[in-house]
Amino acid sequence: MAINDSLPEGVTREQMDVDVLIVGGGAAGLSCALHLSQQIEKHNQEIASGQRQGTPIPEQMIVVLEKGAEIGAHSFSGAVLKPTALQELMPNFKEEGCPIDSEVVSDAVYYLGESSAFKLPITPPPFHNKGNYIVSLSKFNRWLGQKCEGRGINIFPGFAAVEALYEGNRIVGVRTGDKGRDKNGQPKPNFEAGLILKSKVVIFAEGPRGSLFKQVSQKLHLRDGKNAEVFEEGVKEIIQMPAGTVKPGQVIHTMGFPLHKSIGGTFIYTIPGDKIIVGLVVYLDTKDPLLDPHRELQRLKTHPFLQKMLAGGQVIAYGGKTLPAGGYYSMPTLAGDGWMVCGDSASMVDVQKLKGIHLAMKSGMLSADTALQSIVSQDFSATALKAYETKIHESYVRSELYRVRNFHQTLSQGLFASLPLIALQEISGGRGLRDGMTTHQDAKTTEKVAEVWGSGGLSDSANQLPKPDGKLFYDKLSSVYLTGTMHDEDSPNHLLLKDGDICRSICEPQYKSPCNHFCPANVYEMVPARNGEPERYDLQINYTNCIHCKTCDIKCPFENIDWTVPEGGGGPRYQET
Ligand code: SF4
Ligand code: SF4
Repeated sequence: MAINDSLPEGVTREQMDVDVLIVGGGAAGLSCALHLSQQIEKHNQEIASGQRQGTPIPEQMIVVLEKGAEIGAHSFSGAVLKPTALQELMPNFKEEGCPIDSEVVSDAVYYLGESSAFKLPITPPPFHNKGNYIVSLSKFNRWLGQKCEGRGINIFPGFAAVEALYEGNRIVGVRTGDKGRDKNGQPKPNFEAGLILKSKVVIFAEGPRGSLFKQVSQKLHLRDGKNAEVFEEGVKEIIQMPAGTVKPGQVIHTMGFPLHKSIGGTFIYTIPGDKIIVGLVVYLDTKDPLLDPHRELQRLKTHPFLQKMLAGGQVIAYGGKTLPAGGYYSMPTLAGDGWMVCGDSASMVDVQKLKGIHLAMKSGMLSADTALQSIVSQDFSATALKAYETKIHESYVRSELYRVRNFHQTLSQGLFASLPLIALQEISGGRGLRDGMTTHQDAKTTEKVAEVWGSGGLSDSANQLPKPDGKLFYDKLSSVYLTGTMHDEDSPNHLLLKDGDICRSICEPQYKSPCNHFCPANVYEMVPARNGEPERYDLQINYTNCIHCKTCDIKCPFENIDWTVPEGGGGPRYQET
C-alpha cells in the first residue's frame, strides 16, 4: 500500500524559502535552533564591538518542524537529565524557569527474584546520578520551545516532514504532509496541501528511527559499513501516591523479575507531588516473539517490593517509545551536502547509563556551530558540513559513546554471562575482550514460539496478569487512553503493511504475530478473516491508537510494516512524561 500524495486539479503546493530547517522539535532540534540564534547574536555583537573581523549576519529564518500537535506532545523519556549540555546552552537555566522535577538525592540498584529483592551493597558507577536532575521531557521541551519562540525562531507544530527534496545527492529541503485526506487518501473539504520548504541546510533531529532520515540514509547509503541500528523498547507509567508518602529525588534501578526471556531492566524515580515514575526497558534483539513490555510492566507491579512501594497508588499517565541502543558503532554518516543529523536519529545514546538527552542537546548545538560557519562562508557543501562530524568526534558525545561502544552487544548475550565481560570493558576503556563487536538487526533475531517457549507457548506463570483495577493495573487499551492519543478516524492509515499473506500464512502460525504483543498500544490484532474463510486470520491495524513508538517498524520479523508519519498533529499528547 502506498501513500496517495497527488494533488486535486488546480491545487499547487506553496513554497517557502528558509535558511536553516530543523526536522524535529525535541531536545536536539530545539537546542540546535536556540544555540544557533544565540551564536548569531554573539557573532554580530563581537563584530559591532570590534572583537571580531567580518560582516554581521543578516536575520536568518530558522524553522523547526514538529509532527506533534504542540512541542512536547510527543516527548517521552526516562528521564534523568545530565545537565552538561544544558549548562552550556543556558548557564542560568534555573533562573530561566527550567522545569526540573527534582535533583537526584539517592541511587540504589536491586536484583529482583520472583518474590525477593536484593539491594546491591554498592551502587555500580554507571548508576550514579548525583548532580543529575529528574525531569519530564515533555515539560522540558515545551520550555525549550518557548525560549526558541522568544528569540523569534519559527516553530511549526503539527507539520510532519514526509519527503526530503534533492538536487542530485544534495538535500535542498523537505515536503510536509498533506492534511485533510480521507481514509482512502482522497481530499476532504478541509484539504490543505503540504508545503515545500527549501533550505540551505536541513538538520534531521527526529528522534529514534526517524521516518524521514530512514529514507535519506537508505538513499544515500549512510549506514553502509556501520553496525546495524538496534533499539530498546521502553514503557512507563506515572503513579499518583497518597499525600505525604513520597520523598522526591530517589532513583532506583532493578534487574531480574519480571524479565526472563529478554534483557532489560526497570527504573523508578520519585518526584514532587507524591508521584512515582515506574518504567521498564527491554532489548529489542530478543528472540522472544511474545515479548510484551506493557504486560511485563503490569507484572512488575505485582512484585512484593513494588506492591509495598505503590500501595494506594493510582496510575495517571502512560507512554512508550524506543531508544537507540547501538551507540558508537551504529552511528551513521553525520553530514553531507546540505544536511546534518543529530541525537537519537544518529544513535547518540549512552545505553549503559540510559542517558541521551544531554548528547542530543550537545549534538544539536554542534550542528548549530557548524551551520553558523556555513552561513558566514555561504558554503553548505558536504566539505563544509563535515566539520560537524569532526566537532562530534572532538566532544564528549564521542568520548561517552566510545566508552560503552561494546556494551549493548555484550549484554545481549545474557545478564550473568556478560557481567565479567562488562567489568573488563570498564577497566579497559570500553574495549573488553574483543573490540568492534557487531550488532544484529532487531527484526532478524526473533525466533518461532515453539523454539522459545516450547510447544505449550507462553507459560502460565509468564502469562499471569493482574486483573485490571483502574488504579494500579491497566489493560493496554485503558493505558492508551492515558496517553491522550488522537488520530482522525477518517485519515489514511500511516502503518503500511507490505504483505498481509505473510501475516496469516507464516507469521501467525509460527510466531503468533509478534506485533500483537510488542506494540504498547494494541494497534495490531489478528481477527477472523474478513472473507469468512474458516481458520483464517487477517491482521487488523487500529492505527488511531498508535503512540508513535516505532517498534513495529523495527521488530516485525518480516519487516512487513513501514511506519510513516500520519497527518501532522496526530499521535500522543503527553503532558507529564
Ligand atoms: Fe507478523 Fe509483522 Fe504481520 Fe505483525 S505485521 S503479523 S509481526 S508479519
Ligand atoms: Fe508503536 Fe507501531 Fe504500535 Fe504505533 S503501531 S504504538 S509505532 S508498535
